[in-house]
Formats: sequence, structure tokens, C-alpha cells
Amino acid sequence: MNADASGSPPSRGKSVLFCPECRFESALSDGWLVVSDGDERTVVCPECGHVADHRSERSAPTPQHAD
Ligand SMILES: [Zn+2]
Repeated sequence: MNADASGSPPSRGKSVLFCPECRFESALSDGWLVVSDGDERTVVCPECGHVADHRSERSAPTPQHAD
């Protein structure tokens, strides 16, 4: 039987973030400090505090809370 590798290689495809300051390397959801502030999201390196990623998400409209 010919079992061809029909698929993606293992341990690949996960969005791994790399810190240029201290060479910390980990998946975004596994190790990094993700700070959400309103529409902005900041990804901070837990090793040196370097801001690796910062972006504002203004795609979705902010729901108004009518109290
Ligand atoms: Zn770092």
C-alpha cells in the first residue's frame, strides 16, 4: 500500500511570533502577552517587554449599550 502524505506537514501552520529583541519564539496564543484595549490589541513579549505587534481593529462596529 502506498500511503502518500496527503496533507500538511506536522507542527506547521501555527502562527508563531518571533521577538527580534530577545529571540523569544512562541505561538501567539501560547506564551505572548496579548493586551486588548478597546479596539487595539498589543502583543508584548513576556521575556523583554518588547511590543511585537500592535494593531487596531476597527472593522466591527461598537455595540451601543442603551442603559
Ligand atoms: Zn523579547
